[in-house]
Amino acid sequence: TSIYPLKPLTPDVTYLIDIEKGLKYLLEHEVALLRVVTGEKLEALKNFMLVLNKYFPARKRVGEYLEIVMNYINKHADGFKGEEFGEKLKLYEQKYTPEWKNLEWKGCKGSRPVYRGYPCSLWTMFHTLSVSSYLDPHSKEPLEVLKAIKDYVKYFFGCRECATHFLKVVNETLSQVKTKEDAVLWLWKAHNKANIRLSKDVSEDPKYPKIEFPSRIKCPLCRVDNKWNEKEVVNYLVELYRRENLSFEGLN
Ligand code: FAD
Repeated sequence: TSIYPLKPLTPDVTYLIDIEKGLKYLLEHEVALLRVVTGEKLEALKNFMLVLNKYFPARKRVGEYLEIVMNYINKHADGFKGEEFGEKLKLYEQKYTPEWKNLEWKGCKGSRPVYRGYPCSLWTMFHTLSVSSYLDPHSKEPLEVLKAIKDYVKYFFGCRECATHFLKVVNETLSQVKTKEDAVLWLWKAHNKANIRLSKDVSEDPKYPKIEFPSRIKCPLCRVDNKWNEKEVVNYLVELYRRENLSFEGLN
């Protein structure tokens, strides 16, 4: 008999509000606080914006916001000043996403403010992008999303220690990705490597211990005799991160 007799399995949930708050933070803090964005950084940002425009699970107004931000970046072929970009972001937010003034973390809320938050939202966004590309019949290039993520992390992610660890995994294993399914699994494995390394680290929220994801309880079929059943893992990730299944809680 189950050790959880009273409680049916509650699935993990992905909240759109976390991804939108992450997007706002990414643009306002990791891009707009740079003095200038030029050269390789600019190229990396253009590619990332392209991927966001294709695969971010955007509500209508967020889609319009993303498009106008991308147009601003593409218009500045020689680069732009972070401060000027930041001023534009404020105007775009007023026009398209005024509710972003008061966003609170939901799934990524830590038990104290030092925990979780932005890095959690970034992983969540990355998984959402890879699943969205996996499900999109027009998307033909398995590495499209992962390359854009890689370069975003390389040039912009404020946690430089995180970037170093992530890029090491990229260098060692990204070339093994041949299909869109491989891409979804690659990101899952890279994230699990971080989870294992950071388990019991000072950065771990004691209320949200890091585990090899998903847990046995949430996905009993994902493991067979202690080995991953990758087909089931893909199914689980697709259900968790697909656009149709995201929770709008906190946004309306
Ligand atoms: P997170 O690990 O942020 O996960 C967010 C949510 O994703 C979880 O709540 C869960 O629902 C889901 N999830 C968990 N694992 C998986 C998985 N394998 N596949 C799919 N979904 C999953 N911090 C450091 O201190 N050192 C580092 O080197 C470091 N590297 C990082 C590299 C990257 C690219 C990123 C985005 C973050 C990195 N971080 C690092 C931050 C760290 O990984 C966590 O994001 C942070 O500690 C917050 O953890 P969390 O408990 O909110 O869950």
